Amino acid sequence: MTTAASRRPMLGIGSCLAGNAVRYDGDSKPANAQVRAICAQFDTRAFCPEMAIGLGVPRPPIHLVGSRHAVRVVDVATHSHDYTARIQAYAQQVLQQCPQLCGYILVQGSPSCGHGGVKRYSQAGEHLASDQNGIFAQALADNDPLLPLADDEQLNDPGLRDSFVARARAYHDWKILVQGGLTPQRLIAFYSRYKYLVMAHHVPSYKILGPMLANAGREAIDELARAFITTLMAALSHHATRRSHGNVLLHLAGYLRGDATVAQRQQLRALIDDYRRGTVPLAAPVALLKQLFAEHPNAYIAGQVYLELDNPDAPNEGSPPRDSRFQSPFCCFECPQYS
Ligand code: SF4
Repeated sequence: MTTAASRRPMLGIGSCLAGNAVRYDGDSKPANAQVRAICAQFDTRAFCPEMAIGLGVPRPPIHLVGSRHAVRVVDVATHSHDYTARIQAYAQQVLQQCPQLCGYILVQGSPSCGHGGVKRYSQAGEHLASDQNGIFAQALADNDPLLPLADDEQLNDPGLRDSFVARARAYHDWKILVQGGLTPQRLIAFYSRYKYLVMAHHVPSYKILGPMLANAGREAIDELARAFITTLMAALSHHATRRSHGNVLLHLAGYLRGDATVAQRQQLRALIDDYRRGTVPLAAPVALLKQLFAEHPNAYIAGQVYLELDNPDAPNEGSPPRDSRFQSPFCCFECPQYS
């Protein structure tokens, strides 16, 4: 039986990216190394909307036509065959049949599966702009606004890739939580595991989410849950930076005070400083933190998703935060754990 969330997270992926020869010309599209690395962390299920609506292989090419907010997907040659409604209906079908999907890897440039920057033409066939999502991608977004979406080329960006994986992981966990029944206690426990991941991605949201859950038990749980997960997913869509990761690492290091030896804490601090200077990858201080917490267990830290995510190359200063408020000095709020 299909459940809303199985134990292993599942991503949808464009079938051509998954190696299937389903493109209009009978070819596939080789997945880049980043897509392959992400797929190794998740279960995947491949979909081809153009095949699903019966277009077959090979097939005449299609493209987007119309004004910016009213595009249709039609055949290139005559513009007389409109596939828009059928592809939109297929997107709904995918979401209904696979409620466990926690993210989707789309296909750059496709009039069906592209995510941003897809070409749009006039009725006369003149290129107007490259400002669209593919019809299938847009329908996924319209029907499930929380579903993380990115195309294969976008996932080459370390900050976007890190954010996509974090959101997919969070959405999977959220579906399991909802499936088990929402209570104020379970909602608070969920957020306590995500606090440091949220802090790494967007401190202003970190400041909002805690007070938001202070109302748990006093207002309708469904309404609170909706506001909570929307805020949390938006927070994770911001790109974590070297600075923000450094901030979180220092907070986590604070939990070792009183347990780790002075030498251990000095070694950790030096490694965190090296990471902040860009001389070692994030994986280096994270590995030492994990080692020290294995030696000095802390139940709260053991539950932190931040230390569970595998982000060996994330992030760099080339992935700017979207929110200029996040450019503040290193530790931008009062911290009880580390001073
Ligand atoms: S419709 Fe999507 S999955 Fe199918 S070939 Fe085109 S880009 Fe690939």
